[in-house]
Amino acid sequence: MTHPDTPNPCVSCGACCCSFRVSFYWAEADDAPGGHVPAALTEPLNLHLRAMRGTHPHPVRCIALTGRTGESVSCSIYPQRPGPCREFDAWLPDGRANPDCNRVRARIGLPALPDLAPAAEAPQETDYNGIGA
Ligand code: SF4
Ligand code: SF4
Repeated sequence: MTHPDTPNPCVSCGACCCSFRVSFYWAEADDAPGGHVPAALTEPLNLHLRAMRGTHPHPVRCIALTGRTGESVSCSIYPQRPGPCREFDAWLPDGRANPDCNRVRARIGLPALPDLAPAAEAPQETDYNGIGA
């Protein structure tokens, strides 16, 4: 998730792509009907799971990450990235900074992301004359 008023911090980070094992159900890979993750960039873990190369057994750097972490990065398969990458956000649904994100950002020397400002209060209801109740 990114906030409309907040620049995307991921483009100058990439820490999560170098910190976690990225594993997912094998049929997300494109050698299965309907799959989308390039299979050549994955490796099998067992009968059911695959991982992005470079993230297993010890996460070093996902093979799909380009650029320099902490400076300028991008995911070379962004539209085809697997489920765990889609689900890992810098902010939680309630607007708090994701603590796992901030933990791995700290590992590469980046500052913690702030919690997002709470949404502005809804305007007061108005009566039929348009005058505040
Ligand atoms: S660690 Fe957080 S800020 Fe960095 S790329 Fe991942 S989600 Fe984005
Ligand atoms: S597939 Fe893309 S978003 Fe997912 S870990 Fe690799 S580089 Fe990061």
